[in-house]
Amino acid sequence: MPLSLLRWSIALFILCLLAPTAFASEERRRSMPPPSRKKPAARKVDPPRQLVRISGGEHLRRDAATAFEQMYSEARGAGLWLWVISGHRSWKEQKYLYRLYRKGLGARAARPGRSNHQRGTAVDISVGSTHTRTYEWLAANACRFGFRRTVKSEPWHWEYRPRTTLVPSPGQDCLGRLLEPPVPPEGVATPSPS
Ligand SMILES: [Zn+2]
Repeated sequence: MPLSLLRWSIALFILCLLAPTAFASEERRRSMPPPSRKKPAARKVDPPRQLVRISGGEHLRRDAATAFEQMYSEARGAGLWLWVISGHRSWKEQKYLYRLYRKGLGARAARPGRSNHQRGTAVDISVGSTHTRTYEWLAANACRFGFRRTVKSEPWHWEYRPRTTLVPSPGQDCLGRLLEPPVPPEGVATPSPS
């Protein structure tokens, strides 16, 4: 057998050996479902390391808890209680609430891993409606403490986002309304027109 023919035979032999595997993997690729266009699976939210108890018994991440307590005591000064229904939630709690929601048995709840309650930076405050004194106070003041509403359909849900929450200009509240000048204490003479 000439040498070149021998080489060709060997090459052909190797090709025959490899071909079925190559075709098989091609076949496998084809039978696999096309890449999903859905968002990738939610990443588990790591539980915040430092949870702190806030007024009312719920817990928040330390920085959010400090800001909340300041807001809470200022609201108390205005004669209001900020009653927190839900603060930090564990993965298990979020999963439970999400299941209730999916069954139509509970309020709207985010898929586990997608809720800032799991980060300990969200609070659900009992506000009643958007026409109560509590809600109106929050709308006018919460931004000064780094809290703001993030879900349009949930007036009770407030999140601590100090970096992206705008602080009002001096003399204005969170809604851009002018604040009334402070009333001078009794005994202090107010300038009268002469
Ligand atoms: Zn909430």
